[in-house]
Amino acid sequence: MIIAVDGSAASGKGTLAKRLAARFNLSHLDTGSLYRALALDLLQSGQTTDTIDEKTAASAIEGLDPALADAADIRTDRVAGMASVIAAMPLVRAGLVELQRGFAMSPPHGEGAVLDGRDIGSVILPDADFKFFIDADLEVRAARRTRELQAAGQSVMFRDVLEDMRDRDRRDRERQSAPLKAADDALAIDSSELDADGVFDRAIDHISSSPEQ
Ligand code: C5P
Repeated sequence: MIIAVDGSAASGKGTLAKRLAARFNLSHLDTGSLYRALALDLLQSGQTTDTIDEKTAASAIEGLDPALADAADIRTDRVAGMASVIAAMPLVRAGLVELQRGFAMSPPHGEGAVLDGRDIGSVILPDADFKFFIDADLEVRAARRTRELQAAGQSVMFRDVLEDMRDRDRRDRERQSAPLKAADDALAIDSSELDADGVFDRAIDHISSSPEQ
């Protein structure tokens, strides 16, 4: 089984993807961590959102240390901002396509794969068995992300997180290359007034009501 979960920042897509992976014994790939790992690598080599160019960003993919995708340092708003800038570059997106498709075609364990990101159902895995698109009001998402970052020990303020998220949303939705948008055949879930259980239950209902299940 292959599942695509797309959605905006802090919409709950990552939590849903992890829970679906556990329920159906699937390998899980958080594709945002690939863009974040590349962003961190570039920031560490002295690049900024103002100086980075497409060729430099894309050529850093080859030497990227895969361990960076699991590093706690990628979970900052600064890295997320850089990630959304390089994610708008077609050469960067193209450089990460095969890695994501390869993961889905040969999952490291389990009986399939669930990938979460922005363009999984629309570009990376258009033939996925199930597609979900998770979104929520900007303020709700910013409040969630503020709590998450504070719980992780970062001193952030709601207002700054809100502004960063607004900018990032705009870049993700307005970019030419694989913008954030729901695939036509995705089930859209608004998580503004749902907790993680509520989102999971909707997704499970959808999967169980499919004739293929
Ligand atoms: O999901 P996460 O917030 O970790 O993603 C960080 C950034 O990486 C996003 O804002 C987006 O610009 C980019 N991204 C993307 N396509 C994906 C996953 C992430 O463009 N499939």
